[in-house]
Amino acid sequence: MSDSGALRTIVIKESVLDKNRTIARANRQWFDERRCLALNLLSSPGAGKTSLLERTLTDLADSRRMAVIVGDLATDNDARRLNDRGAAIVQINTLDICHLDADMVARACSTLTEVEPEVCFIENVGNMVCPASFDLGEHARVVLLSVTEGEDKPVKYPTLFRTADLVVITKCDIADAVGFDRDAAIRSVRAVCPEADVIEVSARTATGLNAWYDWIEKRRSHAGFGPSPVEHGTQE
Ligand code: MG
Ligand code: ZN
Repeated sequence: MSDSGALRTIVIKESVLDKNRTIARANRQWFDERRCLALNLLSSPGAGKTSLLERTLTDLADSRRMAVIVGDLATDNDARRLNDRGAAIVQINTLDICHLDADMVARACSTLTEVEPEVCFIENVGNMVCPASFDLGEHARVVLLSVTEGEDKPVKYPTLFRTADLVVITKCDIADAVGFDRDAAIRSVRAVCPEADVIEVSARTATGLNAWYDWIEKRRSHAGFGPSPVEHGTQE
């Protein structure tokens, strides 16, 4: 009896993920039609997703129309931090669900039709486990790893890091103070996702942020969504 119970659990999970994949495909088409680069930001709680986005929205406000879909269990604290920076902010309260799914993102997108964002950041719920399984229709995954977390996070959470297109090492300004072993962290990233790009940043001191902004533009070109910000500026 216990075996058939276990089998049922697997079937339910698969059907949830199948349904999610279908909606994710529609989301990706929605983003493609608008030439909007969608980035799924994932990390543990407190790794610095919102801090990175605060800086990004401020620094790119003159060159790109942006939107942020923010997932949180309960509060709108992060959405309020991101507000008033020129970007459209959509808060999703997941209640007790510990990840965003494609349907939640579809509903958030339905509020963005007037905005026509060129870049949509999706700040996932802080959680390194199940968000990895849910395609949201993003073009790329950005996984954050802060210097305070321990260098072996990637090998402890390989499912998440394996799907990363970019790993952003955050809070580099305090790396020495917390005894961060950079070489060990890079080794750990490389062991799990050898192909991912790696950028080291500090949202506080702005170290590395240009590399992050260049990466966003590179992904836009890669998706066929030019033009570059310079050309964009002269068109307006
Ligand atoms: Mg946050
Ligand atoms: Zn979850």
